[in-house]
Amino acid sequence: MNYLSTRNRDLRMNAPQAIAQGLAPDGGLLTPAVLPRLPSSAVETMKEMSYQQRVVYIMNSFLEGFAASELTTYANEAYGGGKFDAEDVAPVRKLDDSTYCLELWHGPTCAFKDMALQMLPHLLTASLEKNDEKKTACILVATSGDTGKAALEGFRNVDKTKILVFYPKDGVSDIQELQMVTQEGGNVGVSAVAGNFDDAQTGVKRLFASKELAGTLADRGYFLSSANSINWGRVLPQIVYYASAYCDLLKSGAITKGQAINVCVPTGNFGNILAAYYAKEMGIPINRLICASNHNNVLTDFIHTGTYDRNRTFYNTLSPSMDILISSNLERMIFELSGRNDRLVREYMSQLAEYGSYRVDSPIRTKLKRLFSAGYCDDSQTLTMIGLMWKELEYLIDPHTAVAFHVLDEYRAETGDDTPTVVVSTASPFKFCASVLTALGVKDHKPGVEILDQLSQHTGVPVPMPLARLKNKQRRFSGSIQPAGMMDCVLDFLK
Ligand SMILES: *Cc1c(COP(=O)(O)O)cnc(C)c1O
Repeated sequence: MNYLSTRNRDLRMNAPQAIAQGLAPDGGLLTPAVLPRLPSSAVETMKEMSYQQRVVYIMNSFLEGFAASELTTYANEAYGGGKFDAEDVAPVRKLDDSTYCLELWHGPTCAFKDMALQMLPHLLTASLEKNDEKKTACILVATSGDTGKAALEGFRNVDKTKILVFYPKDGVSDIQELQMVTQEGGNVGVSAVAGNFDDAQTGVKRLFASKELAGTLADRGYFLSSANSINWGRVLPQIVYYASAYCDLLKSGAITKGQAINVCVPTGNFGNILAAYYAKEMGIPINRLICASNHNNVLTDFIHTGTYDRNRTFYNTLSPSMDILISSNLERMIFELSGRNDRLVREYMSQLAEYGSYRVDSPIRTKLKRLFSAGYCDDSQTLTMIGLMWKELEYLIDPHTAVAFHVLDEYRAETGDDTPTVVVSTASPFKFCASVLTALGVKDHKPGVEILDQLSQHTGVPVPMPLARLKNKQRRFSGSIQPAGMMDCVLDFLK
């Protein structure tokens, strides 16, 4: 299986190269040259498998050059061994006869990023070895919260890698900060950067662009690498949980063989919902893909009108992991919807870079509407939905998941569509205690980690282990630097 660039179909590389490089040299996204179709017996076969076996079954068809035995080892290391506090890894919970919630936050950092970032380090280090790379990879991450911790935990003590995470001093929650500054592992570094997420992100981009830094690090036996969500090694593990959820619904008798489901996904960078699209294309019976946004509703407008326009106000919302105006993984979707027309993708992406907007042509608009529905949810609706779900179902959800439930309610009211629907839950409510307590009507919030117990006592829902353990952890990292100091920070980290 070859991979090609969404901006140039003639640019080809194999799977280990695609994963090691992350991004195509022309700026395009690396995408399988052919999307494999599952055999008609696939669902029946996978139904009886463990989550780890399903991982191997799905990933195998995308990863030529990786033996199934190799993938089995990675799947067991990533999702087994007690790393997830749910035995089935990504459990599906029934809420009513047509509504199911796919909980993707049972991993070591309590957010769905674990689903991909527990697997990526294995795929990456194996790829480097297959490419005969001798240098050590240093993963650089700028994070607005969830990604940094999930990447640290994924790469912790992984051979031939180091990882350095920069987070904005004033841009992450207390819990998120504590999760990062207490990170264990011999190959990790964490530093706060004065400013907001954009300052940290811009700083990291500057580091990647510096030839001088690359030269110095090469002399020391290192090269810089990224773990961001456009790497195929992050998209691929996400396809698995859609197939897995379908199998679980079938196994439990919630649906019958071949019956279609809808999925409703809280969306930021478009990686998660893109994986649902790939699962559908591979043959999992998924009907509508419902794209849920917060007040940063650039995708809602795009799906409704065909015009992508990032020239708009940026809002800091209660669902910060979806505060995004450029959804990078959308490029892969445009590539597919255009009939894999690399020339069109190039044109749209250069318009996006130059003017901040582009309008897709009429055939793409038609296909977009045939596949997707979209809606958005503001902060007050988010709080209302958290409160409602607790009151009516005693089901505690985080703000990102609440966005999806709100959009699903609106979709159903508008369309009357009663197809069984899987709502994707992307974070534990305990990662966002303050918002959740506010939604439940609790005004006085306890400081620091005490807020975890406060939410637990108020609801009777236990604090997830990885968060409960924060109380007794040592702070290992206390540095805070100016953006201009990031280069020195890397040089110091890779002495
Ligand atoms: C990253 C993230 C999202 C958005 O996922 P995308 O793949 O970027 O669309 C949603 N919710 C949470 C909690 C996240 O961490």
